[in-house]
Amino acid sequence: MKEKINFGSICVKKEKFNGEIRSHQMPLYATSSFEFDTINQGIDIFTGKEKGLVYGRYANPNTTAIAKKIARMEMFGLKGEATAYLTSSGMSAISTLMMGILNQGDKILTQGNLYGGTTELFLKTLGRLGIETIFTDLKDLNKVEEILSKDKKIKALYFETPANPTMACVDIGALAKIAKKRKVKTVIDNTFPTPYLQQPFKFNVDFIIHSTTKYLNGHGNSIAGVIIGRDKEIMEKKVWTTLKLAGTNASPLEAWLLGTGIKTLEVRMDRHCKNAQAVAEFLQGHKKVKKVNYNGLPSHPDHHLAKKQMNGFGGMLSFELKGGLKAGIKFMNKIKFCSLAPTLGDVDTLILHPASSSHINVDKKLRERNGITDGLIRLSIGIENHDDIISDLNQAMK
Ligand SMILES: *Cc1c(COP(=O)(O)O)cnc(C)c1O
Repeated sequence: MKEKINFGSICVKKEKFNGEIRSHQMPLYATSSFEFDTINQGIDIFTGKEKGLVYGRYANPNTTAIAKKIARMEMFGLKGEATAYLTSSGMSAISTLMMGILNQGDKILTQGNLYGGTTELFLKTLGRLGIETIFTDLKDLNKVEEILSKDKKIKALYFETPANPTMACVDIGALAKIAKKRKVKTVIDNTFPTPYLQQPFKFNVDFIIHSTTKYLNGHGNSIAGVIIGRDKEIMEKKVWTTLKLAGTNASPLEAWLLGTGIKTLEVRMDRHCKNAQAVAEFLQGHKKVKKVNYNGLPSHPDHHLAKKQMNGFGGMLSFELKGGLKAGIKFMNKIKFCSLAPTLGDVDTLILHPASSSHINVDKKLRERNGITDGLIRLSIGIENHDDIISDLNQAMK
């Protein structure tokens, strides 16, 4: 800008950087909108003739780049491409996708042991909007076939594997096959394994969601989610339109933090798996432990299924202390090294006693039906030296 402008205007106007900017890392694009060169270019972008950035709720370089990266990870080794959008949280990935692909009167078929927030979303919000949810045991494939064949209103089959708190698995390939036959869309929450340990597109699942808040970010400093789908048209027309209009987009800062976390995903996951295996083996031999739920143990009922569809068993496990509620509270009070925090997938080991915390207000019978017994302890094993995790658990059980 060569012409003379006044003091107040100098304060306001953007100062250009003269010279090439070659950032080693992607900068944070903290901008709510993007400028056009000409009005014609603006018209072309708004009408979809030209691809370009318009407004931060529609797309932003940070969110778009990270979504693309996660899509590539989920498609690794597979033919074709997937479309992905970053959302403001894992829950917003689920709500945006379900609002995008379902209509009033449609039904969802799912399992009882979903992430708690997902069950509540389906029952309290989608239910009120006329989308009913049916719960069944998704391990019983004959039952799934029967329910789908009898109820034509079921338009989505939603599942999570491995699932809290017992790390129970469902057969992704078998479920996708049954659903495809009846034109029912499959949606998987792949948060626990991440695309490094499990690639649901290999088994023909239609949509994948993640709470990137957990392992993908890995450092516990951002909340975001992602929706990935292989049907470009549904993703662009239905899912993106819902995201843009419901305003469930991720913020550029969250995307930027997530981008830093993802860089170390492979090394972190390798370490999470190795540490969790060591902790599970220690717990299995301990006299105060009734039961250990970890897929990496051959004694786990889903060990073989997990082995078939996963590239590793992950960092999540749970175990049951002998002595119930009292033993659980006593044990938790003695924990020193592990952190008592209600999240998972971080680099440090997180420990939770659901009966005295997250599920304290849930009816005992109801929680026990989903495996949350009085003495159950959930661990999100971190990437520390595993001897320190084991020492802490050992001293707390004394
Ligand atoms: C945390 C979590 C969610 C919800 O994600 P937010 O980012 O907290 O909204 C969904 N599914 C699973 C399996 C989770 O662990």
